[in-house]
Amino acid sequence: MAEHVVVIYPHPDDEAFGASGTITTFRQKGIPVTYLCGTLGEMGRNMGNPTFANRETLPEIRKKELIKACKVMDIQLEMLGYRDKTLEFESREEVANNLYRYLKQMKPSLVITHYPGHAVHPDHDAFGAAAIRAVEMLPEEDRPTVWAQAISNTHVEELGGPDIENDVSDVFAKKLETIMAHKSQADGMLQSVKNEADDVEAATRQWLGVESFYTWNDK
Ligand SMILES: [Zn+2]
Repeated sequence: MAEHVVVIYPHPDDEAFGASGTITTFRQKGIPVTYLCGTLGEMGRNMGNPTFANRETLPEIRKKELIKACKVMDIQLEMLGYRDKTLEFESREEVANNLYRYLKQMKPSLVITHYPGHAVHPDHDAFGAAAIRAVEMLPEEDRPTVWAQAISNTHVEELGGPDIENDVSDVFAKKLETIMAHKSQADGMLQSVKNEADDVEAATRQWLGVESFYTWNDK
């Protein structure tokens, strides 16, 4: 199977904070990466810091930020058009069917998504579960490896340590550039680091310098 990585997260910026270092490493090896982004994050509370978005303009702003972030990472983007903060109420089977159609066509070797039940936000849990369901719908010989990302505070306690820990310090500049592409979200989040740390660069690396995943095993 040709290598192709498909990243499945619900919100613009999930990929930036969670996996952009890993994605960059794949791209440096010439491996194609496609992001299936569920929503435009249009219900987000962050409106820029200082504020430059409002409830009306946020969807279009976040769409532009997402496109820019994908340009920075040099990856393909598919926007799936679900409504933010409602993914948990969509039919799991319908979302899985939709994702399945993409996967059947793209034939990825690796899928990166959230670890259902350990991903903090209901959209993360629901979309991760649908992504894994979609993978399971593929014939066994076509099923990609799945890297599931747990981000809850208690996941190591509950699941044990992750089996994949990518140190992304070599590509950290690219990761920061990807995060900054999501300006409406990044300014606020990085501001909280600035408020608490003397050495912002070091604190940010400490926070985001390792991207970890669990190889999903349904057996
Ligand atoms: Zn998210």
